[in-house]
Amino acid sequence: MAARKVLPGQELTMPLIACSACGHRISIEAEVCPQCGHPNRASRPEADEPKCYACSATATTRCQSCGVLSCVRHLQSIYVTHGRGGAYELRCKDCYSFAVTWTVISGAIVPVVVLAILLLIFVRM
Ligand SMILES: [Zn+2]
Ligand SMILES: [Zn+2]
Ligand SMILES: [Zn+2]
Repeated sequence: MAARKVLPGQELTMPLIACSACGHRISIEAEVCPQCGHPNRASRPEADEPKCYACSATATTRCQSCGVLSCVRHLQSIYVTHGRGGAYELRCKDCYSFAVTWTVISGAIVPVVVLAILLLIFVRM
């Protein structure tokens, strides 16, 4: 029984996997199957991981306003009103600043409008 001779460099070759589309043996490093062009999923397992919109951390949650994927650190909790009553929502930076700006604007406009109406009534009397 003759031992199979290992060709030089053979042990250095990349592990092969079968293409999921045509079954052609391709390197796991290959981006696409050279035979049929089918994308090789095994080449980039991290590509499927959702990433945070602000950093490279894996997204574990998402903005409750626009739905952008985010890590825990880049979401901020804010109290928002929904008609009657309100709830705390986790929001991305953009949605958070929008909500804060809107709260400040409405907080500043409402007293001014009320004051103006009261003044108008007072003047007409
Ligand atoms: Zn293929
Ligand atoms: Zn982040
Ligand atoms: Zn958002």
